[in-house]
Amino acid sequence: MGNPNFQEANRKFFQELYAAAKQVREYAYAPYSHFSVGAAILSSEGEIFTGCNVENASYGLSVCAERVAVFKAVSQGCSSFRALVLVTDGETPASPCGACRQVLAEFSPELEVFMCNLKGKIVHTTVEKLLPYTFRFKKAGEEYVK
Ligand SMILES: [Zn+2]
Repeated sequence: MGNPNFQEANRKFFQELYAAAKQVREYAYAPYSHFSVGAAILSSEGEIFTGCNVENASYGLSVCAERVAVFKAVSQGCSSFRALVLVTDGETPASPCGACRQVLAEFSPELEVFMCNLKGKIVHTTVEKLLPYTFRFKKAGEEYVK
C-alpha cells in the first residue's frame, strides 16, 4: 500500500487536484459520448498537470483525460507521479480504462488514484491495484518484471 506518510502528503494536495480536475472537465470535447472527464495528476516535484477527454468522429482516435494529463506532463519533463484525481458526473465515480491504467503504470505503479464524481463520492485506490501484473520490460538488474 505504500508509505502512510506519502499518502498523507498527497491528501494535502487533494482539494487542489480535485478543483483542477473539475475545472478542466469543463473543456472536455465529448460530443459523441456526452461523458466529460477531467483529470489532474500530481508530479513527484509537486506540479499539477491536467487533461480532459478529447473525442473524435473517428471514435478510435479519442483520447482519455488521464492520458492527456500524463502526456502533457511527460512532454514538459515530468515522468514521475504521486497522485491522480479523476472527476466525472455519474452516480458512481468512473475508473480509468485499461489503456490508461497501462500508461499510468508505465510511469508510476504506486500512483494513488482518487476517482470522484461531482456529488462528492470518492473511491481511493492505486494503479497497482487497478492493474496487477502490469506489462513491463525487464530493467537491468531486476529479478523479474514488476
Ligand atoms: Zn482511458
